[in-house]
Amino acid sequence: MARYRDALCRLCRRESEKLFLKGDRCYTDKCAVERRKYPPGQHGQRRRKFSDYALQLREKQKAKETYGVLEKQFKRYFYMADKRTGVTGDNLLQLLERRLDNVVYRLGLASNRRQARQLVLHGHINLNGRRVNIPSCLVRPGDIVSIMEGSKKLHIIEENVSKIEHRGLPGWVEMDVNTLSGKVLHNPARDEIMLPVQEQLIVELYSK
Ligand code: SF4
Repeated sequence: MARYRDALCRLCRRESEKLFLKGDRCYTDKCAVERRKYPPGQHGQRRRKFSDYALQLREKQKAKETYGVLEKQFKRYFYMADKRTGVTGDNLLQLLERRLDNVVYRLGLASNRRQARQLVLHGHINLNGRRVNIPSCLVRPGDIVSIMEGSKKLHIIEENVSKIEHRGLPGWVEMDVNTLSGKVLHNPARDEIMLPVQEQLIVELYSK
């Protein structure tokens, strides 16, 4: 399964914005965006003027990088979103939020989406009583996401669970820290998706 393997902080620096790809480190002064507030590369410090197309492209890249999705799959999400009733941009973000790896992250069982993806791939996640190792699997309202019985004592899980109260959860999921199981209450509304992306620009980009 293809995925981006290069430096994550480089992606944030490219967007000149924090995408919170590394979990706890992103909140410290070690964050690369805090230290070098300009895009990477030899010409990174040049003053740049963005065309309309460039603005649209940057918003799309930002969403793609945040959720760890590659171009082909992202485009597929867009077409799925476009076919549904409602606002295409909202539908798109909702689909991305409903990915199993994202839900594991939102429940606080992982410190970032990359870690959540690995937990899913390594078979530590249970969806509605069955082991699921497909990060892109879409969850639905009422679904129960939990940790496999044999994985509950993993150090990484215990560490993440201890920070849930401090991090807080979005309103569309709930978590029982005693049983390590979370529930999807409803599909996320746009104002429940904390993502600094102008989804309308993504729609404009793909609608050309
Ligand atoms: Fe982005 Fe986090 Fe790296 Fe900062 S530390 S540049 S927010 S991935």
